[in-house]
Amino acid sequence: MAIVTTRADTVRANSRIDDADGNRWKDAMRSAVRDPATLCKMLRLPSNLIPAAQIASTQFSLFAPLAYVARMQVGNANDPLLRQVLPVADEMESPENYQLDPVGDQAAKRGSGLLQKYAGRVLIVTTGVCAVHCRYCFRRHFPYSDAPALNQRWDRIIDDLKDDPSITEVILSGGDPLTLDDETLQPLVQRLETIPHLRRLRIHTRLPIIIPDRVTDGLIQLLRDSALTVVMVVHANHANELDESVGRSMTLLADNGITLLNQAVLLQGVNDSIEAQFNLCGRLADLRVMPYYLHQLDRVSGAAHFETPESLGIRIVEQLRARLPGYAVPRFVREVPGEANKRVLA
Ligand SMILES: *Cc1c(COP(=O)(O)O)cnc(C)c1O
Ligand code: SF4
Repeated sequence: MAIVTTRADTVRANSRIDDADGNRWKDAMRSAVRDPATLCKMLRLPSNLIPAAQIASTQFSLFAPLAYVARMQVGNANDPLLRQVLPVADEMESPENYQLDPVGDQAAKRGSGLLQKYAGRVLIVTTGVCAVHCRYCFRRHFPYSDAPALNQRWDRIIDDLKDDPSITEVILSGGDPLTLDDETLQPLVQRLETIPHLRRLRIHTRLPIIIPDRVTDGLIQLLRDSALTVVMVVHANHANELDESVGRSMTLLADNGITLLNQAVLLQGVNDSIEAQFNLCGRLADLRVMPYYLHQLDRVSGAAHFETPESLGIRIVEQLRARLPGYAVPRFVREVPGEANKRVLA
């Protein structure tokens, strides 16, 4: 007799998460480091980094969960993960060609909290909250207060999408949509499922990387049981981010039928070498997360010190292609406002 394993068994076998575990990620959010002095002390970094960090953090605050800080090297002021979260004096410089809205989000507004730039897919700005504040973020100045207070304008978004059969994919973005808890996400997903022409649900999130405990039993059930095809696009920039705990959360998602992709940003001093990208892409592929996009930095004010020349990204990706299986090589892209798709550079 064949042994039939249901998908529910898969969840149970792999997670063994009870209710208390299901809320651990919320504690991780609450206990995140928000003060530059605390971060520097924890990592035994020179205290002369603190004053500039404090000034820069008044524009865009520091936010780094302990689970992420734990992957940084103590005593290393150039740690690639630290560099992504520590405010620095360079952020106060803003060359003229760096803008508040470098990717034309305001022009792509289709409704409150709803952006459309590309055919067939819309992006919902579900929340302004993130599980980490990435210093290079292109939405670091996004006017999130304009985004829908969830339940209010959600109705309007659903009505709008119901009336437009050209839309086959909804992207939940933000901020980070997985900062919403499972009880909030579930009704959203259920309402999207009532739109007959909608086929795919995509979730753009950094949470499973930053706080792997966010991949709760409840989340898995919600995604696995959805009538929509679920694609999760995570965001890791360096192999050091992908420790054992992230490995377990990726396994749980992949085992439950979620398609996993990664997007990374090419960042000066973080991952701007062939070696760093080779290690990142190899580790992702091991975890069944396909490298999807490597983004050229969007020119958002405050992030100029992260920029690398386009020629470097092209060279890196060409080298990766010579060293990795084709499926493990991301497309190097740049977003050009007004174009029909992200521009592929390599
Ligand atoms: C990047 C982006 C997408 C997704 O583009 P893909 O090429 O499908 O990954 C969709 N909508 C908006 C507004 C975007 O910025
Ligand atoms: S998680 Fe994404 S949206 Fe949030 S700060 Fe980082 S890059 Fe920006």
